[in-house]
Amino acid sequence: GADQFAIEQGLDTVDNSYFITERRRTQLLKNKTLSQIKNKKKLLSPDSKFGTVGCVALDKNGNLSAGTSTGGRSNKKWGRVGDVPIIGAGNYANNNTCAISATGWGEFFIRNVVAYDISCLVEYKKLNIKEATKISLDKVKKLGGSGGVIVLDKFGNYAMEFNTKGMYRGVKDSKGNFKVSIFKSD
Ligand code: ASP
Repeated sequence: GADQFAIEQGLDTVDNSYFITERRRTQLLKNKTLSQIKNKKKLLSPDSKFGTVGCVALDKNGNLSAGTSTGGRSNKKWGRVGDVPIIGAGNYANNNTCAISATGWGEFFIRNVVAYDISCLVEYKKLNIKEATKISLDKVKKLGGSGGVIVLDKFGNYAMEFNTKGMYRGVKDSKGNFKVSIFKSD
């Protein structure tokens, strides 16, 4: 599907073997084997790390923005649309509330419209972003999904919450504070 789209757009294409890395090949084989034995639980264990890159930012004029990039999920069906390109599901920014970027099991972020849900909880319920994020991620967990979000509000407060074992994350402010973390306890 991606090849066909690239050709239609007049882009140069390379053989698919160009994109194969040993790590991804092993991951795909593992996922396929697990699918076969219907061990979905293990396949989607909270220990799995997701490859998303997301960011949220606030500029000096009070503009909030969010960006999210992903390769989707390993072994996904061709044509699948995840939460990332759906505004309000995996990505959302509103100058009146906050900016949100999500990672995790996209289907559950779509069903709960997580990014917009967090913004709405801040806007209508007047919750702070930590409270709003917790409520929204709890909904994801309740349905059986997992993942996390980074959130930044219009005042520059941030929240980086997740219901997996870890989430690679970092924060930087205009005063020079800089911090990167992986696990909850970091
Ligand atoms: N949220 C992405 C998806 O479901 C996966 C990820 O976190 O990269 O497509």
